[in-house]
Amino acid sequence: FVSATSLTKRFGDHKAIDDVSLTVSKGEVISIIGPSGAGKSTFIRCINLLEVPDSGSLRISDAQIDFGSGRPSKPKIRNVREYTGMVFQSFNLFPHFTALKNVALPQMRVHRRSRAEAEARAMEELTRVGLENKAHAYPAQCSGGQQQRIAIARALAMDPELMLFDEPTSGLDPEIGAEILQVMRKLAADNMTMLVVTHEMEFARHVSNQVAVMVDGAIIEQGSPEQIMTNPEHVRTQKFLSAVL
Ligand code: ATP
Ligand code: MG
Repeated sequence: FVSATSLTKRFGDHKAIDDVSLTVSKGEVISIIGPSGAGKSTFIRCINLLEVPDSGSLRISDAQIDFGSGRPSKPKIRNVREYTGMVFQSFNLFPHFTALKNVALPQMRVHRRSRAEAEARAMEELTRVGLENKAHAYPAQCSGGQQQRIAIARALAMDPELMLFDEPTSGLDPEIGAEILQVMRKLAADNMTMLVVTHEMEFARHVSNQVAVMVDGAIIEQGSPEQIMTNPEHVRTQKFLSAVL
């Protein structure tokens, strides 16, 4: 359903990710864990082409791209982006638009939905993340956790086949982070396909179907949460887990 094959991305002569392959099945939740600088963000940014890999290939639904011959064409990039929704650590909301408009605008631009249609859908998604009462508030009038939920609603309103999360709870108070995790749990229960970079070991353990461990630009180990958390094979995984658990 989603396959990344042998992705490599260099920054100068540093290989941020090196020959990384990962397959996500429909409805599956995969958590990516690993130390700082391991290449987790770079990998997930390669999946929706915020970074263009130097080599390898990517397949999402019926979009297929082979890298290595320059920048993919705009229609190809658009095709991949249509299938993916991305939620970052920073929310990237427009400060001068209300929550409703923040969620409605990308739908009008990308899917050419009418304002009425986009706003109705925005309201649905804001309700889904528990923010129907904040539809007319501006980002500055919302807490960090609420702003992150607006960002999630914005991504969901685009009908993504795959949701990408890059440490969506870091920078938030634990209590607020728990609200976000709750929303993500609900998405997982609704069979959303998700790839989640996280340092929340509880989430990785209890919500994901698989955990992938990334170290020095490579996935060194991948398996069920049970297997990775309680019986890791790789000494680097053991070291990382003993530092964070
Ligand atoms: P963290 O847990 O701290 O977020 P990460 O696993 O997400 O780390 P990346 O952000 O993917 O790590 O970075 C991987 C490596 O690539 C790092 O050595 C980083 O310095 C480098 N890197 C990332 N983005 C760039 C860039 N735009 N230009 C140059 N080097 C970069
Ligand atoms: Mg990162």
